[in-house]
Amino acid sequence: MGDAQGVDGVAVADGAGGADALLRVRPEGLYCAAGGFFIDPWRPVERALITHAHADHARTGHAHYLAATPGERVLRARLGAIDLQGLDYGRRLRIGDVTVSFHPAGHVLGSAQIRLEHRGEVWVVSGDYKVEHDGVCAGFEPVRCDTFVTESTFGLPVYRWQPQAQVFADVDRWWHDNAAAGRASVLYCYAFGKAQRLLAGVEASIGPIVCHGAVEALNAAHRASGVRLPSTRLVSEVTDRADLRRALVLAPPSAAGTTWLRRFGEYSDAFASGWMALRGARRRRGVDRGFVMSDHADWPGLQQAVRDSGAQRVFVTHGQVAVMVRWLREQGRDAHAFETEFTGEDGAATAPDAPDAPIEPAAPTAPTAQAGSLPPAAPRRSAAD
Ligand SMILES: [Zn+2]
Ligand SMILES: [Zn+2]
Repeated sequence: MGDAQGVDGVAVADGAGGADALLRVRPEGLYCAAGGFFIDPWRPVERALITHAHADHARTGHAHYLAATPGERVLRARLGAIDLQGLDYGRRLRIGDVTVSFHPAGHVLGSAQIRLEHRGEVWVVSGDYKVEHDGVCAGFEPVRCDTFVTESTFGLPVYRWQPQAQVFADVDRWWHDNAAAGRASVLYCYAFGKAQRLLAGVEASIGPIVCHGAVEALNAAHRASGVRLPSTRLVSEVTDRADLRRALVLAPPSAAGTTWLRRFGEYSDAFASGWMALRGARRRRGVDRGFVMSDHADWPGLQQAVRDSGAQRVFVTHGQVAVMVRWLREQGRDAHAFETEFTGEDGAATAPDAPDAPIEPAAPTAPTAQAGSLPPAAPRRSAAD
């Protein structure tokens, strides 16, 4: 048996992605022997190609990093002084015997699908992605390939996102109503990606926007990268207490229950995450409102990305791996699982204690009747945010 295992006992090395596969799972991460590099390795390596700066994909300790140029600043903001080389989207670089290029994944600023070409064979590693354009990062770009490595964080038929304009309208109304009632609107979200997407999408004229320090550090990295965001303040910079009662406050989930919140007085709170689609997720968070917004593709988005890749062979990483592999095989594709240590930053905090069934019934296109009722897999480790 090889060092990579699939779901239902199918070892990757036994299937089509055998010993000569361009990419294999090693204890350090996804390894490309022909190029001598790893992609998003979870243990320290010599050369790491990074799809994006979320904590489960970009870790400290590698000797050399290569990432898409638009993500350089956010990577440094998260990892500090690293030996980082940027590569523009679409630009080709030869590493060992492999031609490498990065292509927009539409997930967060600088996120990339990594294309590998070796002896006429093309693989694409998607990292995390979403197909809806968020106005903050470059939009997802389908890349044709023979083998596609896809995430499957929300790979269940019940996950179908509303158009983001609708979600933003809901957030705006909640904020507006709170401001009219003289209370702050505390919105928990992940500090990197989701926070900046929210900032770019809300109606900033409703009131002042206050950001937790963890969010503000990444706002700065985004602005320095050329992303336009409305003006934001740290709470220490607010002099008029009346401003706090009309403010939208963006904070990481870790700020919940801390004394940092005391200065806002009375407030309404909410959480923005794809996991808010799960019944009970909002209640377990103990917040007033849940806004369903994810930076990952929903079920139709995952399917669309697989189709657009044209790949005959697909490897599935984090999330609903078994369901996705089954669906792909039913579509006549050669599908396998890649066992990784990616968690899906969106799910790290909520998924382990979210055993409830999703709110919506399984759609008619569900590959199997029971697929819609599977709980999300518990991540093996928790991403920082
Ligand atoms: Zn991510
Ligand atoms: Zn991920």
